[in-house]
Amino acid sequence: MSRFFSQQHRHLEAYTPGEQPKDMQYVKLNTNESPFPPSEKALAYAAEAAKNLQLYCDPTCSALTKEFARRYGIGEDEVLFTNGSDDALNFCFMAFCDREHPAAFPDITYGFYPVFAALNHIPYTEIPLTDTLAIDADDYIDIRKNIFIANPNAPTGVALPLSEIVRIVESNPDFVVIIDEAYVDFGAESAVGLIHEYDNLLVIQTFSKSRSLAGGRLGMAIGNASLIRDLNTIKYSTNPYNVNSMTQAAGVGTLLDDDYTRLNCERIADNRVYLTSALEELGFTHTVSSANFVFAQHPDLDGGALYRQLKARGVLVRHFDKERIRNYNRITVGTREQLDILLKHIREILEENA
Ligand code: PMP
Repeated sequence: MSRFFSQQHRHLEAYTPGEQPKDMQYVKLNTNESPFPPSEKALAYAAEAAKNLQLYCDPTCSALTKEFARRYGIGEDEVLFTNGSDDALNFCFMAFCDREHPAAFPDITYGFYPVFAALNHIPYTEIPLTDTLAIDADDYIDIRKNIFIANPNAPTGVALPLSEIVRIVESNPDFVVIIDEAYVDFGAESAVGLIHEYDNLLVIQTFSKSRSLAGGRLGMAIGNASLIRDLNTIKYSTNPYNVNSMTQAAGVGTLLDDDYTRLNCERIADNRVYLTSALEELGFTHTVSSANFVFAQHPDLDGGALYRQLKARGVLVRHFDKERIRNYNRITVGTREQLDILLKHIREILEENA
């Protein structure tokens, strides 16, 4: 830390992204990326857009907004595109939270929520998951806080039914309920269809997972026009050009290639069944995942040790050194070939540790 670093940020504990090591070729099952390349259309559209990189990008993302609004049956003023969904989530903390409107989220969830809260000096409450690592909607009824819920939750993969989300939204009418649907396409119910019914519901989605564009950084907030206007005020007060022109074009190409995204989601759902059954046979237990990852633990293997031994063998999974989940690893559902390599190494590690 330099002697110039602001007092305001000196104690900030920054978010630690999943590792992206370059020292060797890993089977990468640690950051929930898609194992499938972007759609051909996305690549072609991005290449075309690159020809005009001397110009600023469109700050309104108009082509992308039009195509998205048409496909999802919402108004063009009901969506805002951002630099990954992290950008949208940060905007939500900035726009809606303050001392009188503190934040609440589960104790085990996406690790960026407490960081955004701390960065913006927002008080927050972490609400414990149940013993089975699920969210109990009763814990969020009438709590008079802005609520952030990842659905499916991360890193557990456990989804909340839409009816439970509705109960939470209806019981906190004077606070915003932000549903982070980063993984929704892999098997959960989306709340997007409810945005016209509830003026306090905001849905966050991303192109990073099901749509194979993690490196392009494209996310969005979907909600009624006045919430989106507030987020735009934050965006135009920080970085109006937050989505570059190649990414905007890749986003349009991806939307036009919806069948490809759907097919990939089906492949991931099949591979999730393949992975969970194989892990069960090996003695693992796991949460019920509706996402593109599985959260699993073994009674005879320490979670951290398994992570380290897999890494030494060239397979990356994600381990969180956090009290309640220390024995677990989060494994991204990759291709069959990637999963077979992972399973082969797990079998060997189990034999070595027997
Ligand atoms: N929400 C959740 C629950 C996530 O796991 C992630 C990915 N790490 C994000 C949001 C952010 O994803 P991105 O910024 O790539 O859209």
